[in-house]
Amino acid sequence: MVQADTQLLRVIDGWQRRQAWPHAVLLTGSERSGLFSQALYLASRLLCEQGQACGECAACQRVSRFSHIDLHLLASPPTARHFGLPVAEGAGDRYVIRKEDVLETCRALSLKAHAGGWRVILCLRPEEMNKEAANTLLKTLEEPGDQCLFVLVSSEPKALLTTIVSRCQRLQLRPQTRAELCAAWSEEGCEHSKADVLAAMDLRGMSVSPEVLQALRPLAMGWLKAVNASHGGQELDLAEAMNRQGMPESVLRVLRSLLSDLLAIDAACDDEDLTHRDRTEELRGLVSLDPLAMAEVLDTAAAALRRNVSLISILIATARGEKLT
Ligand SMILES: [Zn+2]
Repeated sequence: MVQADTQLLRVIDGWQRRQAWPHAVLLTGSERSGLFSQALYLASRLLCEQGQACGECAACQRVSRFSHIDLHLLASPPTARHFGLPVAEGAGDRYVIRKEDVLETCRALSLKAHAGGWRVILCLRPEEMNKEAANTLLKTLEEPGDQCLFVLVSSEPKALLTTIVSRCQRLQLRPQTRAELCAAWSEEGCEHSKADVLAAMDLRGMSVSPEVLQALRPLAMGWLKAVNASHGGQELDLAEAMNRQGMPESVLRVLRSLLSDLLAIDAACDDEDLTHRDRTEELRGLVSLDPLAMAEVLDTAAAALRRNVSLISILIATARGEKLT
């Protein structure tokens, strides 16, 4: 059974004691520090037959398998798959939560809870909502039903609409240190320098898997070098190679983390603080780039992807430091 984060536990105990549960919670922290399992713990507290997330009763068992009838999921299909959750056939591959998805969840909520108690909606990576979806969710958060708890689970709360954040009770998991996260990756069999980079990316809300890092970082690094050398042909080849990986969000994360390092180098930060500190020398060689202009373009890229702008167009604009339209 999942252990609750002590700080989280204190807050939840308070809600339960006062019988004053909020309608919406924004649970933030790094996905590597057990963000998802803490969200499940929160759901168990409301759905458990003993009212205490006992981990033993049938309800808790169902929550842990994500098969409880009063536990609803709102997530993009690739994100649901990432967390090992069931996805309807033909659900697609876009990292987008659409208005229809929000409406469908809300329809399920308009029915009474099957077990006669609470209903819990876990919204994973709510930053993946497009604007229409976010506005639809906002309306629901303004008038939530009785005994209904929305749990928004995000490692990138800055990407959320402030109006949504303001409707939620904020719960922040204790941030782990780079060394702790690195040790966790090493335990999973990652070699040290890679575990160290993955840990730094986790801390900065840019989590990727070891496989993604392995596949994308050499391409992203090569692409930056090609842009740095104004080698147009090579730049396009590498952009296409990244695009073929079929993980545009991950490409953006890896590139953004490399550009953050370039900005840190420009600002004369300590090399020890870099995310890709195993690539310091290569990064130092990229002297013709304008990392600030490029990073600014990338910061608007996730929204552009949701508007169906292609990754290739985003990369071309990023290389030129041109605003995305
Ligand atoms: Zn239980």
